[in-house]
Amino acid sequence: MKIIGLTGGIASGKSTVSAYLQEKGASIIDADAIAHELLAPGKPLYEAYRQHFGDKILLSDGQLDRRVIGKLVFSDPAEREWIDATAHPLIQHEICQRVRQYQAEKKSLIVLDVPLLFESGWDKMAEKVCLVYAEEKIQQERLMKRNGYGREEAAARIAAQMPLEEKKKRADCLIDNSGSLPSTLRQVDRLWKEWTHDGVS
Ligand code: ADP
Repeated sequence: MKIIGLTGGIASGKSTVSAYLQEKGASIIDADAIAHELLAPGKPLYEAYRQHFGDKILLSDGQLDRRVIGKLVFSDPAEREWIDATAHPLIQHEICQRVRQYQAEKKSLIVLDVPLLFESGWDKMAEKVCLVYAEEKIQQERLMKRNGYGREEAAARIAAQMPLEEKKKRADCLIDNSGSLPSTLRQVDRLWKEWTHDGVS
């Protein structure tokens, strides 16, 4: 069994690559999806957020208002730290459980899909780390289009992350998603061959 860490900056194309890897047969562990599950009403992270931030972060139906939380966290580094310290162990616990489950099921390739893989330290769980990136101008355009951000907000979100050059240095393999989707998927096909035919099981 092989564990590949998959990461990328915001709107770099990581989810696109992850979905394709799943289609090809990889078992995906999606850290964002786990965080979302833990934030459902009644779940541990939901209760922690509610106690910490108060009811101002709730929508009228009791769900968390993720946009409000995003803004709070983005504008206040102390809140960011609090969220990281609270969410990190809960998400890590869930990731480890899923890895054990896939190991028991004898899955051959597990992909740890984590936006902040290096920042969280979970890259150490992976045998190889793969970085999806796009040239910054393209990344910014895609982010504006996908999230409805203005140019400044998109630039600020990108600037708040670990610089791309630093991530490139730490990654074992790179997927350049600056071009067309087929050109990206061809790069994934090549890596898939490498990962599944190199004798490591
Ligand atoms: P991430 O998961 O890294 O945030 P996504 O996979 O959601 O990024 O991609 C960001 C946006 O860019 C999405 O709207 C996606 O459809 C689009 N996108 C991704 N790759 C390409 C590509 N090669 N060409 C054009 N649009 C793309």
